[in-house]
Amino acid sequence: MISGRLRNTEYVINLRALGENIQAQKAALPADSKILAVVKANAYGHGLVPVAQAALRAGATGMCVAILDEALEIRDSGLDVITLVLGITPVEEANVAAEAGVSLTVGSLDWLTKYHQFARQFNWKKPLKIHLAVDTGMGRIGFTNVAEFNQAVKILRRYPEFEFEGMFTHFATADSADHTYFDRQYALWQKFIASLDELPPYTHMANSATGLWHRDQITANTIRMGLSMYGYNPSGTDLPEDLHLQPVGTLRSSISFVKKLAAGEAVSYGATYTAKHDEWLATVPIGYADGYPRCMTGFKVLVDGQYCPIAGRVCMDQMMVRLPKYYPVDTPVVLMGRSGALTITAEEMAEQAQTINYEILTNFNNRIHRTYH
Ligand code: PLP
Repeated sequence: MISGRLRNTEYVINLRALGENIQAQKAALPADSKILAVVKANAYGHGLVPVAQAALRAGATGMCVAILDEALEIRDSGLDVITLVLGITPVEEANVAAEAGVSLTVGSLDWLTKYHQFARQFNWKKPLKIHLAVDTGMGRIGFTNVAEFNQAVKILRRYPEFEFEGMFTHFATADSADHTYFDRQYALWQKFIASLDELPPYTHMANSATGLWHRDQITANTIRMGLSMYGYNPSGTDLPEDLHLQPVGTLRSSISFVKKLAAGEAVSYGATYTAKHDEWLATVPIGYADGYPRCMTGFKVLVDGQYCPIAGRVCMDQMMVRLPKYYPVDTPVVLMGRSGALTITAEEMAEQAQTINYEILTNFNNRIHRTYH
């Protein structure tokens, strides 16, 4: 996708804040805890490689991604740290991971058996690093049965094609005030942990929410830090967090066109907005093709420290906002972040779009140019 370097819309990423978020989480954990920075989905929209580099500088040990291609991009950037693919990789492609020293998630005996056959058949020699996924209640991937899990561990330990590097689980409700389901998952995780006389080098059970609200229960040496690293609260606004997280991204643009609208004149597709009085209208060069959702129609942006309503429908590449008075072309517009005393948060945007802050952030695509400081 082409990045819009020549238009005045940018996603400004504060890598210092990212580092401070990591350090705040680290300081709240036992001293020997390790952090895997979750940088899947283009680092939640913040840019994979710059975020990975900054996370390592701030004390992260390695990375988690969703798919093998993301792991290879990390390798291509020259980073040779532990990089775990959290999703299931097709067995046919797994040798690519072994060759690149990328760690894969495995959740079934079938996968292991098939890989072992392939490795023998095609003479795949380099040991594949494996993290066994334990499904304690997320219902997505992983072993649900301790006996099968133990069989998998035996296979990993028996054959030189494998290296047993880690085991992990994932919680479905760690961001909920009700701990009942979390506790049930946690009890099962404890059973899996207790079933091994020797644990692999990496054990991990915590996502951001677990690191925030179940910190004292963590029985693992590593956490997978995703959303909180970017400075956002995984519960949205439901639960308070104590790490003083700082949002890392500011989405900003500037006025590309300004005009006076006469009372009765309409704006944008469907002509759904009509000026009640004579009013100033600004055009802003961002739209739903950038990942600024069309359903933000009716929301607001910040101009000169004031809220300005979006006028009419958000278009593919542009949208219009009503100004309180005349502002010239090039006046800054903040779509997410602070302007003067006011801030528009990802959570407010999520509420408007009836989704979660995660989806707002990961929607911003590469047509929006990223800048780092
Ligand atoms: N671990 C797994 C298995 C995940 O799928 C994710 C993200 O979806 C994370 C960790 C990171 O979660 P969060 O961003 O809530 O920290």
